[in-house]
Amino acid sequence: MIAFLLSTLVSVRVIVLTSAPASLVQNTAIITQLLNPSIRITDVRYYKDPYPQLNKISYQIDRLQNLSEWARRKRLNKNVDAVHFVVSPMNDGGYLFVGGLARGYCKVASRLSFSMSNYSPYNVFGAPRYAHSVFSAAHEVAHIMGANHNNEYPNIMHAAALQFVDRYALGWAQQSKNEVATCLRSKGLK
Ligand SMILES: [Zn+2]
Repeated sequence: MIAFLLSTLVSVRVIVLTSAPASLVQNTAIITQLLNPSIRITDVRYYKDPYPQLNKISYQIDRLQNLSEWARRKRLNKNVDAVHFVVSPMNDGGYLFVGGLARGYCKVASRLSFSMSNYSPYNVFGAPRYAHSVFSAAHEVAHIMGANHNNEYPNIMHAAALQFVDRYALGWAQQSKNEVATCLRSKGLK
């Protein structure tokens, strides 16, 4: 379970981009646990992925850029402090990868407040990747809320946090909580 991190004053819209109707059902399960109770989710919306071809690892910066512009055109960033995209796993060389990206630190409450993470219940070998998907989402949203990497010990904001998921109960470092609090205060959110 992810420990509490953020003020309830921060509103995050989660946009789940699906490639097929069947995945809607699959994705609903992750969303309910995705960021709560560490981050309050304002609402969850489902759309057909407008850029399904951007799933290679090398395309992820373009993927977030394109999705951000798409969301702004559709005004999906209205009335929330941040938008997080949940997308299909990166698919490269026959393997599936889970990770994520954020557009800069402490961009919350701006029109550039977008982050993205992959969701996949399993990798191609059948190993569970649900927890990896959850922590990846939390990690990226925390970036746009001001948290930097903290590589001192296994925690959610470790630059390579996902490598620890199976061995440690990852939590938030005090440093991350402080950074987020400072960022939110600077934006008038806390
Ligand atoms: Zn990071």
